[in-house]
Amino acid sequence: MSNEVLKVGALSAGPGEKRYDVKEFPVQGQSYRLPMWLINGSRAGGNADGPTLVVTGGVHAAEYASIAAALDLGRSLDPQDLRGRVIVVPVMNMPAFTARSIYVCPLDGRNLNRVFPGDARGTASEQIADWVFRNVISQADYYVDLHGGDLIEALVPFTIFFRSGNDRVDRVSLEMAKIFGIHFLVCSETPGSTFCAASRAGIPSILAESGGQGIWTPEDVAMHTNGLKRLMRHLDMIPGGAPEPMSFTLLERFLWLRSEHAGFWYPAVAVNEAVKAGQNLGCVKDCEGRVLQTAVSPSDGVVLFIVTSLAINEADPLLAVGA
Ligand SMILES: [Zn+2]
Repeated sequence: MSNEVLKVGALSAGPGEKRYDVKEFPVQGQSYRLPMWLINGSRAGGNADGPTLVVTGGVHAAEYASIAAALDLGRSLDPQDLRGRVIVVPVMNMPAFTARSIYVCPLDGRNLNRVFPGDARGTASEQIADWVFRNVISQADYYVDLHGGDLIEALVPFTIFFRSGNDRVDRVSLEMAKIFGIHFLVCSETPGSTFCAASRAGIPSILAESGGQGIWTPEDVAMHTNGLKRLMRHLDMIPGGAPEPMSFTLLERFLWLRSEHAGFWYPAVAVNEAVKAGQNLGCVKDCEGRVLQTAVSPSDGVVLFIVTSLAINEADPLLAVGA
């Protein structure tokens, strides 16, 4: 990256500048408004030497700890302290944020984190993904997408990375996940997700999860903000030196269990609980209390997230085990 001016479309920030603006672009004939910061560092070493980090939040727009952390980064990062360049998109899915929508974008009912790298001629979510991927994410040398449990999900924090088959990208993605400092690391392929699409495009990427159930405690937010600071220190983008290594548990499988029925969900385990293969993890009942489905653990492992709403729909996630 040797271009001195950081640009997204017509927005630009020269060396030493920080720009906040709301970028507008057409989605299904309407103007879509995307808030973002462009932060172009001028710390010794010069921006020509530093990498470009892209941070996104609010792909799932009720995962508030992630959005709060992205806002903190955009508001607080000083270009005088920065080597390299940072683009922060704090709320990618603003229609879903406004609507407090779970999982999906209200413009088309699609999960934005299942349609990357998008399609310029597709549905609203596919068009949003396409624009953000081409104009923002593709500029990254490193990419972090911030998430958490949705309004109806509890989780223990974890960081996901993807093995794309490109040795350099996969090695750096795993290194980023370790540096981020969250204890559980999960190797997973989620088709259409931000971090898988970016990894496939040659950009080392992680997706970090913290917070949930519509709650964003200072601890939940700090999990993300500390991770971002640790990563930027590791990359020598901000002062502070290399961060101390943190202990981690690497989980090679991310096993989702889904409901086969609409009904009432009764979990039998808690997040961060160790479980055994064959263990009863909870059941889906009908109105009269008949068991429609028992969720059985497919493996020894740890419960990473649980849906906490009593209401459950057919094909909804129930919980996930990391193994
Ligand atoms: Zn999410």
